[in-house]
Amino acid sequence: MYRRFSCLLALLSLTVAGGALAADAKRIAITIDDLPAASATPMAPAEAGRLNQQLLTALQRHGAKAVGFVNEDRLLVPGHVDDGVALLHAWLDAGMELGNHGFGHLGLWKSSREDVEAGVLKGEVLTRWVTSRRSAPLRYYRPPFTQTGKTEAEREAFEAFLAHHGYAVAPMTVDHDDYLFACVYDRLQAPGEAARRQVVTDEYDTHLRTSLQVFETMSQELFGRQIPQVLLIHANRLNAATLDRTLRTLKERGYAFAPLDEVLLDEAYRSPARASGRFGPSWLARWARAKGVKLSVYGQPDPVGQTAQWHAQLCRQ
Ligand SMILES: [Zn+2]
Repeated sequence: MYRRFSCLLALLSLTVAGGALAADAKRIAITIDDLPAASATPMAPAEAGRLNQQLLTALQRHGAKAVGFVNEDRLLVPGHVDDGVALLHAWLDAGMELGNHGFGHLGLWKSSREDVEAGVLKGEVLTRWVTSRRSAPLRYYRPPFTQTGKTEAEREAFEAFLAHHGYAVAPMTVDHDDYLFACVYDRLQAPGEAARRQVVTDEYDTHLRTSLQVFETMSQELFGRQIPQVLLIHANRLNAATLDRTLRTLKERGYAFAPLDEVLLDEAYRSPARASGRFGPSWLARWARAKGVKLSVYGQPDPVGQTAQWHAQLCRQ
């Protein structure tokens, strides 16, 4: 009898634990910047189109609804504007959302607020045309270099400008130096470099895991829980080749994919965020600074390993 009772108790506690696990499942939104593509080496529009299809296929395979942030200056390739428009449609066809990443990729550190604001409006023409014809939203702006202002006054004025034009800043909480790995990967495109490309992709996955640990620690220290996160990566050759693996890694760590608009409903995203200044850190760091809370870590560690060495040789010329 006692044994049966204790078995029942064990079963009950397992069920409760299972339920608690489901309710506490970590969530993450995927955001991809620099559409159509960022590359350290020349890239033809046809390759950019294929690269985006690879990204979209991986996202769809994992049921992830991402937001793709567009640099329209990169779409306006003479003789290939139709390809650029087709690329925007492909994102919407795949069930994704489009956002604005500014014309000319101007950041609020080197460029004036007036120039960045002009870039917001100049950078929405094709995207607005495509989204409005399909009744799709165009509501998020991802600041280039994730710079939101040199001062609090500039951040507030810029956010007011964005709100006036129907935009909210798309924050990010997880980034892991994908541009650094991507530059090395771009420079190792020769057929004979497959082995080194494999090292880069393996180290990239390891760095994602290490970085997630840091951002989860920041979330725990700041909010006492795992808030839904926002991952920032870029449209590039590296992510086209590895997004499927990245999404599997996230699932392995207990993340479920959620659209950005759902993630932003979490009250954590209503926390005041300090203006970025020059370096655009995770919003977790910006919230901590605004609250005056000291954290044990403030962002992803510097990449180590062979990729970091190759980056010094191949990407700093
Ligand atoms: Zn960018």
